[in-house]
Amino acid sequence: MAKIKIVCAECEGENVVRDAWASWDVETQKWEASSVFDDARCEDCDREVSLNEVEIVDPRKAALDALSAAQDFMNGFADDETQEGIGDMLDDIGAAMKGLEEGLAHG
Ligand SMILES: [Zn+2]
Repeated sequence: MAKIKIVCAECEGENVVRDAWASWDVETQKWEASSVFDDARCEDCDREVSLNEVEIVDPRKAALDALSAAQDFMNGFADDETQEGIGDMLDDIGAAMKGLEEGLAHG
C-alpha cells in the first residue's frame, strides 16, 4: 500500500498538527494520542487550516514510469532506419529500467 503524507491545504507544508486527547500509558511512560479531532493547525501558516492527504510516490517508480513512456514512444521508431542509434538507446533504457525494477523489488 502506498504511504501518504498529510500537508497543509494552504502552503502544502508538512509542519501540521491536529487537536487530540492523550492518555497516560504506564508501559511506554508517555502520553499517547487516544482521540484525534478534526481541528488542524499549520505551524508555518501559524493558524487553523484544512489538511490534505498526498500519496508519496517513490522517485524510482516515477522514473520507471517516465522511462516506460519513452520506451513505448521510441519503439514506434525502432524499425525506422533514418533514426540512427535508436536500438542502442532502447537497450540503455531497458537496462536502466531493469536496474530500477530490481531496486524497487528489494525495497
Ligand atoms: Zn501551511
